[in-house]
Amino acid sequence: MEIKGKTAIVTGAARGIGRAIAEAFAGEGAKVVLADLGSLAHRPAVGWHYGLSPESELAGAAKKIRERGGSCAAVEVDVSDRASCQNLVEESLEAYSSLDIVVNNAGILRTGALADFAERDWDRIFAVNVKGIFLLSQAALPYMKERGGVIINIASVLGKQGYARIGAYCASKFAAISLTQSMAAELAEYDIRVNAICPGNVDTPMTFAHLASSEGLQKQYETATVEEAFDAFNRDRIPLGRGQTPEDMADAALYLSRADNVTGISLVVDGGYGIGVS
Ligand code: NAD
Repeated sequence: MEIKGKTAIVTGAARGIGRAIAEAFAGEGAKVVLADLGSLAHRPAVGWHYGLSPESELAGAAKKIRERGGSCAAVEVDVSDRASCQNLVEESLEAYSSLDIVVNNAGILRTGALADFAERDWDRIFAVNVKGIFLLSQAALPYMKERGGVIINIASVLGKQGYARIGAYCASKFAAISLTQSMAAELAEYDIRVNAICPGNVDTPMTFAHLASSEGLQKQYETATVEEAFDAFNRDRIPLGRGQTPEDMADAALYLSRADNVTGISLVVDGGYGIGVS
């Protein structure tokens, strides 16, 4: 698919991986709908263990794209809510009269032993990381089925391999990968391609919030800062010896948007983390 002139919704676009993907699409001449919680981040039902993006960050991300000459709209959404996803699609169509690409990127992380893991946290992780993909894709389908399109789900290397003390998140990302495969099989007849990206260890607010948490690696590596813990982990565990960047994921999203004969894959971008250091 030629990206120029197409309309792309990117969820979780106010910061981190989503923001880099939105900037990359805008840089290629797409009309981008940046979707994130905005003022909804202040709702108790949405609140999380680390700060999610407030409205200032969403506005800032949109402003930067416009300053660079890109075309974008900013829409508040909670991807775990059906009406909110429906509203996002309607506002996107109102703004640009088309919808070609949906990037289901919004996600949340919580670590902890399963024996003590709070049911509310389990439910919220699945509501955002898995049901969010279902709800937004379903809302977009009536339009996309008529014209074809591209759906990209941001999963994780933790959707390929389970690890201790991060079971809920791993399970949600395994689910995101299998959902990607089912969607790809089901939607191919409408010329809708569905793929996943599996990032490794990316320097984003989510990663740094995790590193700094009581379960995080900063204690394990005994570093003064989370940035040092991030580097220490990458040197220790990643064959290429460095972490991934949001821009690495944006490159993968551009590739998957253009790759007209690719569907149902989960593209790992992890510097070899999954194969491990020898
Ligand atoms: P981040 O926390 O920096 O950004 C996530 C964005 O999603 C935030 O702006 C947040 O406000 C938004 N969001 C959260 N819940 C939402 C909801 N219900 N509705 C709408 N927006 C919501 O995280 P990130 O590291 O950029 O992660 C992006 C995606 O990449 C996630 O799906 C994450 O699981 C995945 N991922 C990240 C890494 C990593 O190392 N950072 C690795 C593998 C996978």
